Amino acid sequence: MASLDWGYDGPNGPDQWSKLYPIANGNNQSPIDIKTSEAKHDTSLKPISVSYNPAGAKEIVNVGHSFHVNFEDDKSVLKGGPFSDSYRLCQFHFHWGSTDAYGSEHLVDGAKYSAELHIVHWNSAKYSSVAEAISKPDGVAIIGVLVKVGQANSKLQKVLDALSEVKTKGKRAPFTDFDPSILLPSSLDYWTYFGSLTHPPLHESVTWIICKETISVSSEQLAQFRSLLSSAEGDKAVPIQHNNRPPQPVKGRVVKASF
Ligand SMILES: [Zn+2]
Repeated sequence: MASLDWGYDGPNGPDQWSKLYPIANGNNQSPIDIKTSEAKHDTSLKPISVSYNPAGAKEIVNVGHSFHVNFEDDKSVLKGGPFSDSYRLCQFHFHWGSTDAYGSEHLVDGAKYSAELHIVHWNSAKYSSVAEAISKPDGVAIIGVLVKVGQANSKLQKVLDALSEVKTKGKRAPFTDFDPSILLPSSLDYWTYFGSLTHPPLHESVTWIICKETISVSSEQLAQFRSLLSSAEGDKAVPIQHNNRPPQPVKGRVVKASF
């Protein structure tokens, strides 16, 4: 497995990642199965506060294993929660499965959801770039939202409409005027724990904020994620059918609850 060849299937799949990324077997890997009865309510946790500037949205990119919507803006920030620093928005993306029966990375009491939204932020109070922050223990903050199949989600339509412009790996297209907070559930009650990026390089640098409340998308909307290709233009078309890492050992970590 070459470093650029990691994937979600067979010889490149998640159970092989440790060959090139030994941290895959580390003590703080993500995702996890959140056992709600073991989560500790913590009165010191503050409400999550997000303030995103729609003008910070720049582009949508097919990265081969998913798509990213990228932001460049020093006014889009995450504060509060377990954080003393302010974290700057850099991108959001989704994870999904080959059927509606699975696709989330985090599980709750063993339950799989159909997809998961990740809104990624980096510690701009302490570091000068996302590249610098991404490997630091206090470098990254990700809001995770579990996605259930149900009613169509009109807030997601602009993102889905843009997918046709980034069908193949490496394609990018302008994506502007978008506030990702419209994708968040109405309640921002959350679980939080210390973990990692969920794909290589798997740095243990992420403070996770997993929303208790789910959001909904329709089965048809979810199918549009699977129409993206992991192959480059001109190569044999290979759809991104699934891109969720299975849950990792908790290894004694404590999940705190804001509620
Ligand atoms: Zn992710």
